[in-house]
Amino acid sequence: MTNRPETDAITAGQELSRSLSPALWPSTVWSSDGLDATNARATALRSDEFYGRYANPTVTQFEHALAALEGAESAVAFGSGMGALASVVLAFCGNGSHIVAQDSLYGGTYSFLDGPCRRFGIDVTFVDAKIPGAFKSAVIPGKTMLVIAETPSNPCLQLVDLDELGAIKGPFTLVDSTLGTPLGQQPLRHGVDMVMHSATKGIGGHNDAMIGVVAGEKDLIDAVWQYGVLHGASASPYDAHNALRGIKTLDVRTTRQATSALSIATSLSYHRAVQAVHYPFLESHPQHQLARQQMRHGGSVLSFELRDGITPARALIDSLTLARPATSFGGPETLVCHPATSTHIGLPPEILSRIGISDGLIRVSVGLEHHDDILNDLIKSLA
Ligand code: PLP
Repeated sequence: MTNRPETDAITAGQELSRSLSPALWPSTVWSSDGLDATNARATALRSDEFYGRYANPTVTQFEHALAALEGAESAVAFGSGMGALASVVLAFCGNGSHIVAQDSLYGGTYSFLDGPCRRFGIDVTFVDAKIPGAFKSAVIPGKTMLVIAETPSNPCLQLVDLDELGAIKGPFTLVDSTLGTPLGQQPLRHGVDMVMHSATKGIGGHNDAMIGVVAGEKDLIDAVWQYGVLHGASASPYDAHNALRGIKTLDVRTTRQATSALSIATSLSYHRAVQAVHYPFLESHPQHQLARQQMRHGGSVLSFELRDGITPARALIDSLTLARPATSFGGPETLVCHPATSTHIGLPPEILSRIGISDGLIRVSVGLEHHDDILNDLIKSLA
């Protein structure tokens, strides 16, 4: 009998070790019994007793855990979410290839696709995921190697229909499921080829692990690993160790955060200074039905727009006493961020306006404090 995802979060990766707290292997290198044994490790796929950039037993345990949570054959970790994204793109694309990507994306992802990728001769078409069939109709047969989506998107909480994405044949499909978390949604079960996370966020969950991960079929993940060894964005065992601890409490943390986020989003939506609130499980979200179909909860991140732009946004952020201005999300503390001047600062104004990042937009990462305290802090500052 298969267990439920909440149980998998406790048991995942434990098949590799009897110690209940995962073993931390800081070593960057392993000795072997002579030339032939060294050669066997050098040529093996993912030997985790060879050299730390190739693999590491603590990182391997994290990868096993993530693969189990995503229902994947395999997973490979990197030194950050961006390391994971760059390794997937560069493993499958080269000069002359084409990528289709959603336009509403984390700023770093957008900048990577729009900057270095184009510089290396990879053409990118950004599509509006709200238009049904937008990804599929932008695919150029034989040229498009990757279709990249982020759902929910950071910070606008736009959703992508995972069934529609999973039905695309030809290019590989990749979903950045960072805001969804592996317990909130499982893109691979919808037919998507690869799922990635910035595990720096909810998976690590304590603001003390910088780590990214990609999961999918073994052949695809082996190809990403092979490129990753040369790319060098390897995950650190210390971060993998912290992230493994985070996985154990992922369900209780995110369930609580999502309940608080929905209640705070609902209250904010009645406030006269607030023009709009973006949260997938709010009934006013334009893709609310889709959210209910493909997500178990709405996640820990919401965003809202103030009526009069940057001046009230600054006043609000500067006067909060509980929530802290900071650029990450998914941790225990409630954090607020102003995407236009931080996470999305490199993007041209016309792109920001197209994807809905206004000067008045504020992102909230709802933490583990009592939701009434978080709300009171926001309401007091809104006043
Ligand atoms: N994907 C999303 C949705 C993000 O929000 C972020 C960072 O905020 C990243 C990827 C990049 O992750 P990292 O900071 O771990 O490189």
